Amino acid sequence: MKIQNEETLINWGEKLGALLEKGDVLVLSGDLGAGKTTFTKGIARGLGIDQMIKSPTYTIVREYEGRLPLYHLDVYRIDGDPDSIDLDAFLFGEGVAVIEWGELLEQALPEDYLQLTLSHADQGRNLDSYAVGSRSQELLEEWIHDLA
Ligand code: ADP
Ligand code: MG
Repeated sequence: MKIQNEETLINWGEKLGALLEKGDVLVLSGDLGAGKTTFTKGIARGLGIDQMIKSPTYTIVREYEGRLPLYHLDVYRIDGDPDSIDLDAFLFGEGVAVIEWGELLEQALPEDYLQLTLSHADQGRNLDSYAVGSRSQELLEEWIHDLA
């Protein structure tokens, strides 16, 4: 799916955020600057969070309170050692987990998650998605329906 500008990416994130339920896990992949954090700003908005979202690159995780808690992780710096954080607290907690560079977690990922991959495309971005598991499949279908 082609995304022309930052506003559209935030808007799509907001629509997805509005659909999220407790226990949902989103894995965001893509190079530095691809838009993972920008997309998370939209998700936060959709969860009713009005705090400013800052990249968790150095802190690994930031938590926000909205309609549901949002656990925003950036695991780039823990690659190879998922045991260095209490991942289960975020994956199986009260809220939803959005994990930048989540693909690095490999076997530590849960059975059900939505994989979203952003890449640079001309001036805009491209977004690829696939669902791992039935809950994510349902979420993806609802989201695509809302985007149309
Ligand atoms: P990441 O978290 O993937 O490293 P960020 O969201 O922090 O990426 O940064 C994306 C950068 O790219 C921002 O500075 C944003 O303004 C810029 N940008 C330019 N065009 C777009 C677009 N179409 N979608 C998203 N971000 C864009
Ligand atoms: Mg980021």
